[in-house]
Amino acid sequence: MSTYRLMIMGPPGAGKGTQAKLLVDHFGFAHLATGDILRAEVKGGTDLGKQAKAFMDRGDLVPDSLINAMIGAHIQKSLAKGFLLDGFPRTVPQAEAIDDYLSEHEIPIDAIFNIQVDQDLVVDRIVNRITCVGCGAAFHAVSNPPKEEGICDHCGGKTQRRADDEESKIRNRLNEYNTKTQPVVDYYRGKTGLVQDVDGQRAIEAVQEELRAKIGSIAD
Ligand code: AMP
Repeated sequence: MSTYRLMIMGPPGAGKGTQAKLLVDHFGFAHLATGDILRAEVKGGTDLGKQAKAFMDRGDLVPDSLINAMIGAHIQKSLAKGFLLDGFPRTVPQAEAIDDYLSEHEIPIDAIFNIQVDQDLVVDRIVNRITCVGCGAAFHAVSNPPKEEGICDHCGGKTQRRADDEESKIRNRLNEYNTKTQPVVDYYRGKTGLVQDVDGQRAIEAVQEELRAKIGSIAD
């Protein structure tokens, strides 16, 4: 079986995390989600977590220096099974730093999926988002609620609302996306032929099917 090295991009609420988890279950590569990694650092009370928390609570991006310092170790640990980078890189300096790192270590990226959604839809998805504390699975309070309230369908863990999923913070996160992360998509479009747009407004299963087909067609 091939070892894939992939990136998934798109605004907050595009469904990156949901799609990534389904892809990981299917293909078995590592899910390197910088948001999940940072939330675990905050929960664990580490130095990094303490430094990142205030930025995350406001819906601001965490400084590049903190993110760039942590990601290499996660990539190294995942080399054997491949990885899907989710929520990283989020700024052009992060993209430049990771590109240098990947070329220095001869780790080519196979594909970059850009999930596209209307930003009004994104706000609805996020204000209704419910997340599992244990495995990070995402639910929608109206269209895709957990079968039993408060309990994750996948791992039986507790579900909760994310602290940064309030409407005012979402607007800030979208603003951060539009000003700092959208340019990363343009940067990769200009630099590589790897970016593949995916319509993220369809049902979860339809988006997943397209992503699996695209990954399946990556040459060995
Ligand atoms: P997410 O779970 O991807 O929505 O990320 C939650 C929060 O973590 C973001 O609003 C940022 O504060 C922080 N974060 C996650 N990934 C990055 C990144 N690559 N660069 C800077 N901040 C990040």
